[in-house]
Amino acid sequence: MDHFLYRNGILHAEDVSLPEIAAAVGTPFYVYSTATLERHFRLFQEALSPLDHLVCFAVKSNGNIAVLKTLARLGAGMDVVSIGEYLRAKAAGVPGDRIVFSGVGKTREEMRMALEGGIRQFNVESEPELRALSEVAKSLGATAPITIRVNPDVDARTHEKIATGKKENKFGIPIERAREVYAEAACLPGIEVVGIDVHIGSQLTELEPFEQAYLKVAELTAVLRADGHEIRRLDLGGGLGIPYTRSNEAPPLPLDYGALIKRTVGHLGCEVEIEPGRLISGNAGLLVASVIYLKHGEGRDFLILDAAMNDLVRPSMYGAHHDIVPVIEPAPGVDQQPYDIVGPVCETGDTFARARPLPPVGEGDLVAFRSAGAYGAAMASEYNARPLIPEVLVHGQQFAVIRERPTYDEMINRDRLPAWL
Ligand code: PLP
Repeated sequence: MDHFLYRNGILHAEDVSLPEIAAAVGTPFYVYSTATLERHFRLFQEALSPLDHLVCFAVKSNGNIAVLKTLARLGAGMDVVSIGEYLRAKAAGVPGDRIVFSGVGKTREEMRMALEGGIRQFNVESEPELRALSEVAKSLGATAPITIRVNPDVDARTHEKIATGKKENKFGIPIERAREVYAEAACLPGIEVVGIDVHIGSQLTELEPFEQAYLKVAELTAVLRADGHEIRRLDLGGGLGIPYTRSNEAPPLPLDYGALIKRTVGHLGCEVEIEPGRLISGNAGLLVASVIYLKHGEGRDFLILDAAMNDLVRPSMYGAHHDIVPVIEPAPGVDQQPYDIVGPVCETGDTFARARPLPPVGEGDLVAFRSAGAYGAAMASEYNARPLIPEVLVHGQQFAVIRERPTYDEMINRDRLPAWL
C-alpha cells in the first residue's frame, strides 16, 4: 500500500498534487511519502514483536538524510555499506550503537572512522577483513563488536545481479568454514564476537529461501555456542521483495516474514536484526517526468521523457519493470496505445519500457514511475552531464525539497583544469 492516489483526476503524493510539486521544482524529480515510509517501517516492527529486535534500514536503497531521519525518529537502526552511508546516518541523527556496517570491502580508514564514531557491529565478510579490523581496533585501543556474515549457499531465486547467498557470490564466508573463522575471531585482539549475519539477496518474492538460510543460521548458532562463543545477536539481512506491478505480483507480507523468523530462530533467545531497504522505501517513492517529444518511429511510437537511465537505472541495469502512469487520470475506458518509453541519453539501453500500453499522452504531460523510492536516486549518476535530479519529501499537505537540483555551474565547477592546460 502507498499514499500516491488520484484525487479529482490528479495524482497526489499524500495531500499534495504532483503538478504543484512539478511547478515548484521542475521535472524530473523524485518524491517520497512520509506516511508510506512510516507505515512500512512499522509493519516490520509489528512483525518482529515481541522479539527483542532492531530494524536497520538499508541506507543503500535510499540514503537521503531526510528519509533516514524520518525512520530514525521511529527508532530505526541503519545498515550501511560504506563510511559515506555511515556519515549520512550520523547526519540524520542516528546514534552509532544503532548502525551496523556491512560490505565486502571495508577499508582500514572506514573501520577507524566507524570505531571512533561509534558502531553497533561490523558484519565481517572475510578473514583478511577480520584481521585488518583486529589491527585497527587494537591500534585505537578499542574493541570492535562483530558478527561474521556466513554464506549459506541458498538460491534466493532473484535477479542474478542481486543474489548474494550462493557460494559463487563474493559475499560472506562459506557456512561450512564458519567454526574455523569464529575460532580465529575469538583469539584476535580488539575483536568481540556478538553474533552471526546472513543476507541472501534482494527482491525475494518467496519466503522459502529465507527459511532455508535461517534454519542453517539456527543450526550454526547451536554449534558455535557449543564451541564456547557468545552468540547473542542474529542479523538476518534484508531482501523482502515488493510488488512492482499492480496486477499480478503478491510478494510475502512482512507479517509472514516475521512469523518465519520467529519460527526459525525465535527460540534461540537472540536479539534479532533485519536490514530491509526496498520494502520500506521502494513503494514510498515516485519518479515524476515530463514528456519532451512524441516521436513516430518505424511501427512504434517513442515517448521521449526528460528522465533517463542516469536518473533511474533499474530498467536498463536489471531489465526491471516500473509501472508508469499519467499524472492526469485518464477517462474511464479510454483506449490505450503502446509506447516505447525512453530517455534522452545516447544509448539504446536508455529504455524504460517497450510497447507499454498507456492512454494517449502528449508533449508536456507529466508521467510518474511507481515504486521508484528504492535504488532510484541512490543509484543515479550524472551520465551525459545530466545533473542529479531533486528529491522531495511530502508530509500530509506539506512538501519540502530534500535534495536540490544542482546548477550546471555547480556540476561543471567540480572539475579542475591541471596547470598544463
Ligand atoms: N543488507 C545487505 C547486506 C544488502 O546487501 C542489501 C541489499 O542488497 C540489503 C540489506 C537490503 O536489501 P533490500 O533493499 O532488498 O531489503
